[in-house]
Formats: sequence, structure tokens, C-alpha cells
Amino acid sequence: MANKINVLKGTKDILPQDIEMWHFVEENALKVFSSFGVKEIRTPIIESTDLFQRGVGETTDIVNKEMYTFEKSERSITLRPENTAGVVRSYIENGMHRLPAPVKLWYKGPMFRYERPQAGRQRQFHQVGVEMFGVAQPAADAEIILMAENFLKSIGLDELDVEINSLGCPKCRAQFKENLKNVIRPYLNDLCEDCQSRFEKNPLRLLDCKVPTCQEIFAKPEIQEVITSNFLCEECTQHYEQLKNYLNELNVKYSENKHLVRGLDYYTRTVFEIKSNNLGSQNAVCGGGRYDNLVEELGGESTPAIGFAMGMERLISLLKEKEPSKIDGFVVSNNTTEALKLAQELRLQGFNIEIDLSNKKFTKQLEKASKVANFALILGEDEINNNKVSVKNLVTGEQVTVDKGNIRQSLMV
Ligand code: ATP
Ligand code: MG
Repeated sequence: MANKINVLKGTKDILPQDIEMWHFVEENALKVFSSFGVKEIRTPIIESTDLFQRGVGETTDIVNKEMYTFEKSERSITLRPENTAGVVRSYIENGMHRLPAPVKLWYKGPMFRYERPQAGRQRQFHQVGVEMFGVAQPAADAEIILMAENFLKSIGLDELDVEINSLGCPKCRAQFKENLKNVIRPYLNDLCEDCQSRFEKNPLRLLDCKVPTCQEIFAKPEIQEVITSNFLCEECTQHYEQLKNYLNELNVKYSENKHLVRGLDYYTRTVFEIKSNNLGSQNAVCGGGRYDNLVEELGGESTPAIGFAMGMERLISLLKEKEPSKIDGFVVSNNTTEALKLAQELRLQGFNIEIDLSNKKFTKQLEKASKVANFALILGEDEINNNKVSVKNLVTGEQVTVDKGNIRQSLMV
């Protein structure tokens, strides 16, 4: 036997027994996002590497360590690690700033990050997300968080924790970064390697380090004082307070987390995450925030924007398993021609129908029918001669013989 080839590390097949959960989640995404007037967009899985270097940021883990990049015809191409950059590129390229604001877009699909595979972390995984362009007001932030919550509720996840924070704007954040560096500098040599390299490049990222020795250091009173200080300028404060008012009015429960900074460089003001206690250490199902400078940085006109992304594998792992659904009817017959014809007629009427293709014994066919279908449609010699079908309800065992033209009614019950 030839060597068998396995799926790549960190990637997974989504098998037929699981696909209904995916459909369920995707259908609810469409329904809930449409209820806010959001339209779906599908961007390519490959993009120019520059897009992510500029759009996600050189100091992020994603760009530094996690990108799948390759050369083709002397161009550097990358499998998308996230979809915001691609959506922003498309927004600019297609002149969507000329559309009435806000432009609201959602997406779903595979993302690729070269990470160490573990529970809740794959190298190919899927996200569903929303981006809203053209509104600077905090009402947009409130609607985005509400949209995430409505969607999670629609799939039955109503016990999740929403955490919010404000990172301010580049103006007020600059001083905060300096203050932070000043109090942390004395402990620099005791921090983990990642934190040591973040210290200069992206000091905010220190705050969400998960290494216990770093967390101990950041818990010191003089450092906590800086972390919990209010560094926001007047406008950023107003924005944040207004957002919290809206969330209160909308009964969205949230907590404030000063350590929430998110991995990406581009966030301004509002950031948020939604977490589950039932996911272990990879506990975030949703991450989002405002990115008012990104469109301009990627060559568009200055356009405020906000969005979120959710990890679909993590969402689905929180859902209860569903029984696979059954088809409407399975044709049981030893006359293959008649079976093929009946099945086809019913499919054209909108029913899901299978037949036995290998001419097995009647009893075998009935066994198969009861596994996969709600009804057995029995075409014996008598039925065929009289232009009838016996319809057996496979749940109750009840059986009726009806004219071929009347099967519809029997299948509808
Ligand atoms: P994490 O802290 O888990 O690394 P992140 O900040 O890298 O998350 P985002 O880029 O914000 O994640 O992506 C949004 C969501 O996508 C995450 O909250 C998570 O649910 C999911 N996600 C991110 N990376 C992976 C991965 N490698 N495998 C599975 N899901 C992922
Ligand atoms: Mg990550």
C-alpha cells in the first residue's frame, strides 16, 4: 500500500457530521447582521504581503511570527491572517467612501496563522466578522458591540463576558506609553523575552502578557497606578463615557478591563473582547475595536471605522452537538428505473430524497431508510402496477398507500 498522506498540523477537516453546526452559525450571522443592514463581502484569501505589514502592523505577533508568506513571480504574497486589512483594501479600491455612510460589511471564511497548534488554536481557522466605516460617534461602537451580542445570543450563547477598554488616541496614548515605560523600566531584565522586545516597539502589549512572572511585576502598586490612571484626553473620555451610557441603556452587561489592549497596532479608542469561562486558556471568542487611522494609513481618505472578528471553531466548541438532520424520503424498491423517476419527481417539488442504488433486499433498504429519512417511499410491484406509493412514517411506523400524484401531502405532515 502506498504511504498515506495526512492533514497538515494545525489544520482540520470539517466533516459532514459537524457541518450542520457551521451552517447554523453562518445562517444566524447572515440573519443577525442583515438585521443591522450589514452586507456580506468576500475578499481573496491571498493578498500582497505589504497589506498586512502595513495594515496589521510590524510590531504584532501576527506579522512577526505568524504569516504564511511565499513568493510568486517575484511578488510576495501572504495567506490572510485576518480579514480587516483585506476589507479595508477593498473599501478603498472600490471607492466605497462615496457610498452613504456608514458602509457596513461582514465576512466569513478561513484565516491562516503559523502558530503552535493547541486547544483553541489552529493554523487554518475560521472567522466571522463585521466592519463599519464612516462613523466616528460612539453610537457606532455601541451598535457593533450590540451586533456581536445579538449574534452570540442567536446561536444560544448568552452567558459570555463582554470586556471593554479605551486606548485613547495617538495623542493621549503617547504620554501613557511613556509613563508605562518609566515605571516598568527598572524591572526590564526580569520580564519575559517577548515583553523585553515589546517594551520599545509596542509597550501597550506588555499589559496583556500571560506569563505569570510578568503579571506579578505588573501587579506592583506603582505600575498598577499607571495602568489604572485615567490618561484619556477630553474627547476620548467623552467618547468612552457615551459608549458606556449607550451600553447601559441597551442592557448590554460589560466590565471594564484596563489590561485589555488587543494585539494589533491600529486600534484607537474603544477595544473589546468577549470571553467564555468554558474555553480554558484560549478563552476569547470575539475581539474588536475602533481603528480610525487605518483607512488613511492604507492609502484611503481619512475614515473612522470599527469592527470585530470571532473565531468560529471556538464558538462551535461552545455549542451543544446537534443530531444530524434527516432527509424527507428514501425510496424502497427493486425497480431502479421507477425509483430513480419517483425520486427525481419529488426533488423537483422541493423534497430531499435518496434511493437505493445497488438493488439491495427490501429489508436492507428499509433499514437504511430508517437511519437517514423521515419516510420510506415503498414502490413494490403492486404499487407500480396501480400507480401508487406506500408511504411509511419511520418515526410512528404508520403506513398509508396513496396515489403517486398525492405523495406531497403525506410527506408534509
Ligand atoms: P488570541 O489572544 O487567542 O491569540 P488574537 O488576539 O490573536 O486571539 P484576533 O486576531 O483578535 O485574535 O482574532 C479574533 C478571534 O479569532 C479570537 O478571539 C479567536 O476566537 C479567533 N482566533 C484567533 N487566532 C486563532 C487561532 N489560531 N485558532 C483559532 N481561533 C483563533
Ligand atoms: Mg493570536
